[in-house]
Amino acid sequence: MFASISEMFCSVQGEGPYVGVRQAFIRFVGCNLRCSYCDTPIDNVNHCQFEKEPGSGQFEAIKNPLSLKNVEDMISSYQNIHSVSLTGGEPLIHSDLIEQLDVHPPLYLETNMTLPSKAKQIAKKISYVAGDVKLPGEFGGDDIGSHMDSTIECFRILRTTKERDCFCKLVITKDTDTEYIHEVMEEISDYISCAVLQPVTQKTAASDVRSLLELQDRLLRNINTLIIPQTHKMWGCL
Ligand code: SF4
Repeated sequence: MFASISEMFCSVQGEGPYVGVRQAFIRFVGCNLRCSYCDTPIDNVNHCQFEKEPGSGQFEAIKNPLSLKNVEDMISSYQNIHSVSLTGGEPLIHSDLIEQLDVHPPLYLETNMTLPSKAKQIAKKISYVAGDVKLPGEFGGDDIGSHMDSTIECFRILRTTKERDCFCKLVITKDTDTEYIHEVMEEISDYISCAVLQPVTQKTAASDVRSLLELQDRLLRNINTLIIPQTHKMWGCL
């Protein structure tokens, strides 16, 4: 079993309710969407950049694709890990490898929530789900109806249980259609522990504070709603 991975490193989670926990990150190559605000290199890369010593900035280039054993050994080299963040790109594209992945820390899936059959394949292995809701005008496709059906189905499959915490993340820009957010939240609020509003980090596209607080106020009537910006860029870590 092999997969192309762009980076592996140990850092802290920079978004959402688990901000600050120490994680090993596997950043998979490839994505099925093309979001307007994407700042992640998602196309194929020849080598995986592996940071052996956390925070050192020294990377070893390892030829892609990596074997399952390679990935397990690299993850096991990190100490005191809360969880392993499966991120990308879109990690669900690599569900075959994730299904086989045998590592001690629990798995934390960061996904765009648009690939329900792959979500089903690995649901039992996942302890944390940071599920995005990609809104109209953001996800790079035309068929918003089937896009949202897939999103809701993914939240149903990966919903919060005794063994798993599933929350949703909404990136908020000044153009965000807040009415649409309310419609989606009505469909998924039973499946999640909380909603996280994440103001987009580029200043020109940021939402203003008052609109964010109004949105939070309305959502709080149905679901615990947090406003948490990305923290990595504040202190310059990966
Ligand atoms: S789902 Fe994530 S990785 Fe994929 S295009 Fe959108 S922002 Fe980029």
